[in-house]
Amino acid sequence: MTNMQRAGTAGCVLARELIHGIPNINILVLEASGPNAHSNGLISLPCTWFQAFQLYDHDWGYVTQEQKMKSHVNPIKEAAVKNGVPYPRGKAKQYNDWAAQGPEYKIWDWDHCLEAFKALENNLRENPDEEFKQFHGFNSLHHVQDFEVYDILSGLVDVAKNLGIPYNDDFNVYEWRRKRCSLADCYLRDALKKVEFHPGAEPNGFRKVVAVDIRSYTHVLEIIWDEENKKENIAIGVRYFCNGTVHEAFIAPKGEVIICSGAINSPQILMLSGVGPKENLEANNIKVRKQLPVGRNLLDHPNCLFAAKSTPEKIHHWSSGSEVGIIHKANVEGKIPCKKDFFDENPDIQIIGIIISLLKLSREIIKQPPLSTVYNIKEIGINDEFGQWITNGDDLSDEDWEKLVFEKSNTMFHPSGTAKMAPESKGGVVNHRL
Ligand SMILES: Cc1cc2nc3c(=O)[nH]c(=O)nc-3n(C[C@H](O)[C@H](O)[C@H](O)COP(=O)(O)OP(=O)(O)OC[C@H]3O[C@@H](n4cnc5c(N)ncnc54)[C@H](O)[C@@H]3O)c2cc1C
Repeated sequence: MTNMQRAGTAGCVLARELIHGIPNINILVLEASGPNAHSNGLISLPCTWFQAFQLYDHDWGYVTQEQKMKSHVNPIKEAAVKNGVPYPRGKAKQYNDWAAQGPEYKIWDWDHCLEAFKALENNLRENPDEEFKQFHGFNSLHHVQDFEVYDILSGLVDVAKNLGIPYNDDFNVYEWRRKRCSLADCYLRDALKKVEFHPGAEPNGFRKVVAVDIRSYTHVLEIIWDEENKKENIAIGVRYFCNGTVHEAFIAPKGEVIICSGAINSPQILMLSGVGPKENLEANNIKVRKQLPVGRNLLDHPNCLFAAKSTPEKIHHWSSGSEVGIIHKANVEGKIPCKKDFFDENPDIQIIGIIISLLKLSREIIKQPPLSTVYNIKEIGINDEFGQWITNGDDLSDEDWEKLVFEKSNTMFHPSGTAKMAPESKGGVVNHRL
């Protein structure tokens, strides 16, 4: 097993782009997780993602306070290596709404961001047509591949087509030769290759400059501010915890501290550094340096699980992971065998559904051949709290469905928005330059 070092999604891309874009730059990456995530086979295989994200030793273990709808937030330490690996980019309008916030935000419009996405991607589709080429890059580091449609999945696709659901052959992207291509695999690995040698005082006449230095198992505590320049809140370094001791790291004169610790921990570091809502900072005896709505505006994906069952022998030959999905309004993915079944040669099939309209649509799909015939899939079923099948939904009124969705929904792994990019007058935490 390699001792591959890791970092977050944005951190890996930034490290590589900065090291290639700025001559003689030195980068220190401080990363809370350890280097060996890939030694766990569940993490490196995309088809085991549902299991991988239940590995709690790779998880911050965060949960929300009690909500009206039952929910939990579960940002995992290494989202970059444990995500589901489709890469939908959202709608053009979402980017254009950012850009509309002012002339300086123009760089965030769809056209600019699409070019940035393409610049990251090495899409492996053979013979892409012109339309596909408009949306994908083919020369970069992040390997991206279409998922394979076969067996029950092709049955599902056919039924959906017959029901008039438009087929999208570019729902994006799945895996890289059946192994996850995380941003650490491609971007961080590439950043680490760039080691430069410069003339120096060493006996051999050269001083080795290690351009990117990654420190794993390192927890950033707070930003260190330039106390002599109090009015401007200029960051000059960070304080971090590593090997049982608190350390400090300072930037070079024109350097920058870049915080990209995810949607939960970036606000935490900012708030510990005195940037955030005044009342929260004061309640925790933190000196207020800048009052901003840090941590507000949390957005996440709703998720609601229901199950459909099949006769095991009809599906065991293909089922090795989350390969069946009904995608509805870009909000839902996948079928998952339960943990026990995953290694079973005769697994059950379950389909994840979300929101009432999807549940109804899913029921329609499942009633159709070949799913109902060849694969013998029964209708979506509702489990009780002990996992027992209690109803197939036939007897449920709309009110019952709504109640069930409220009871069974939670949020799922895509927290964002907590350091909103907008002018301060519109609740922004960071501006167009982030
Ligand atoms: C289970 C799961 C499935 C997902 N599926 C998909 C998917 O299919 N498609 C998709 O597009 N997106 C998916 N996502 C979301 C996607 O992975 C995230 O949006 C993305 O990784 C966020 O990137 P980031 O750089 O902001 O944060 P992260 O990738 O989370 O990186 C933050 C890094 O900061 C480190 N860190 C945090 N706090 C500190 C600290 N105090 N000191 C030092 N280091 C710290 C963390 O360890 C982490 O490595 C999924 C996420 C999860 C958790």
